[in-house]
Amino acid sequence: MNSRRVSKPIQIGRVTIGGGAPIVVQSMTKTDTRDIMSTVTQIKELEECGCQVIRVAVPDAESAQAIKAIKQGVSLPIVADIHFDYWLALMALEAGADGLRLNPGNISQPKKVSIIAQAAKERGVPIRIGVNAGSLPKTVSKSTIAEQMVDAALNQISLLESLDFDLIKVSLKAFDVPTTIEAYQSIASKIPYPLHIGITESGTRRRGVIRSAVGIGTLLYQGIGDTIRVSLTAHPREEVIAAYEILKSLNLRQHGPVLVSCPSCSRAEVDIIKLAEKVEEKLLKITKPVRVAVMGCVVNGPGEAKDADVGLACGKGKAILFKKGKKVGVIKEKDFITTLMREVERF
Ligand code: SF4
Repeated sequence: MNSRRVSKPIQIGRVTIGGGAPIVVQSMTKTDTRDIMSTVTQIKELEECGCQVIRVAVPDAESAQAIKAIKQGVSLPIVADIHFDYWLALMALEAGADGLRLNPGNISQPKKVSIIAQAAKERGVPIRIGVNAGSLPKTVSKSTIAEQMVDAALNQISLLESLDFDLIKVSLKAFDVPTTIEAYQSIASKIPYPLHIGITESGTRRRGVIRSAVGIGTLLYQGIGDTIRVSLTAHPREEVIAAYEILKSLNLRQHGPVLVSCPSCSRAEVDIIKLAEKVEEKLLKITKPVRVAVMGCVVNGPGEAKDADVGLACGKGKAILFKKGKKVGVIKEKDFITTLMREVERF
């Protein structure tokens, strides 16, 4: 794995992004921002599963003003997602937004960007230049989408720098994974700012998690990326869970348990798929970094999962309980989950 690209750090509220800080997990609310109670409830739920920065859509004045009340009900830093109307960014700043996301595809006039940058600078609020392949500025025209995305970001960066504004974060998202990777690889060596990485509109839980894991995972492996958002057509809790799974797969963050489960085969004498799914559900409530294994047979189970802190190697009607690859007891099928979870709690 490549060493991490070290960027100029910025602060989104109390959260540091870049500068070698741990990679930050973000998500976006899917409530109507004007519905303050629902939005606060969703943000609190996301915070419980580990979300560190939350973005809210700001399509109108009422949404921008709602940020003030939302902030009173939550502790996560809030980023206002702004498109088209520069004055919404000003209203969101006035309401206390901790960060702004601007799309250079629809807010690019120097005068408007300058007014936003001035107001953001006064409050020490960073701006994410959020380039999206689906809404590129019309002025840029190079051969590939990745190059156009990079150009759009560089133009906006130059404009902000000319205004003496450097609280910048950049994202270059496309649905196409190779395009996204190329764009981030290209810009990573050209700018000193932190990168927010993700695959846009990646799809439903099953497909979107795979696209995101391939795209985000490839970039992270190359040392690129300071904060991630997994965009899914699903409840945002799934985005946060997927984000941590990506980070844990690359040993970049520890967050809650890691579940090791065998794929099952003809040696298995229990329904290992059902059992592993039940254990996975139970583990969602555990926050400590414990490695748990659910294996389908006593022959290969403990050996295959020798790095697990605690695990089950199942046989017909019973299972061997093992810790760190060593057998420590035998339990009955009716006690599989309760015993395993008790050991996880104890660990
Ligand atoms: Fe098959 Fe046993 Fe390996 Fe599971 S642990 S895949 S049941 S050999």
